[in-house]
Amino acid sequence: MSVPFTTLPLRPELLQGIAQIGYETMTPIQEKGLPLMLEGQDVIGQAKTGSGKTAAFGLALLNAIDPELRKTQALVLCPTRELADQVAMALRQLAQRMSNTRILTLCGGRPYRDQLAALEHGNHIVVGTPGRIGKHVQKRSLRLRDLSVLVLDEADRMMDMGFIDQVMDILYHAPIDRQTLLFSATFPPEIEVLSTSIQRRPQT
Ligand code: AMP
Repeated sequence: MSVPFTTLPLRPELLQGIAQIGYETMTPIQEKGLPLMLEGQDVIGQAKTGSGKTAAFGLALLNAIDPELRKTQALVLCPTRELADQVAMALRQLAQRMSNTRILTLCGGRPYRDQLAALEHGNHIVVGTPGRIGKHVQKRSLRLRDLSVLVLDEADRMMDMGFIDQVMDILYHAPIDRQTLLFSATFPPEIEVLSTSIQRRPQT
């Protein structure tokens, strides 16, 4: 059965954005995951590229942010720059009808000074790779005090690439009272351990 997005408690601007993109009904991960994510629950999503996972967590975090508060409220960690760029592009598309929503990408291999300047403007959502985000957090150029949603995208690839220490360092600076969404294509034991240490009563 195909369920339309209009059944979800999403802000009208997001429903308008979805209609503008042309999505009509939800993919399975959206249909199963979005109601839980919109309730604020921690979620583990077993999903590969092509499943619609980006729109799933994207809608959840865009619905959760307060556009009036110009602070980083949502953070998406990705294993590669390419994925971070794709995620940021998808979020911008979904947010096209939400005025003044600032989304910043922070990845390695890009000029650090430009990133510092962009951070000074205040951003609602930050997307990037753990190494560079960790550096900004350590140097206090990125503050996570107001973070309410954290997403780990392709968590298995992040673990394979050895990002676990950076991820844990970033989380050390994030509020405990947050929503954590973990997406992974595979579930080796390390991902179970990671979930147990960073999520609260996650729904799978
Ligand atoms: P992802 O799994 O996030 O990489 O998304 C795969 C593709 O599915 C992207 O091109 C999205 O634009 C598209 N997509 C996501 N959600 C939907 C939907 N509900 N209906 C149609 N296409 C979608």
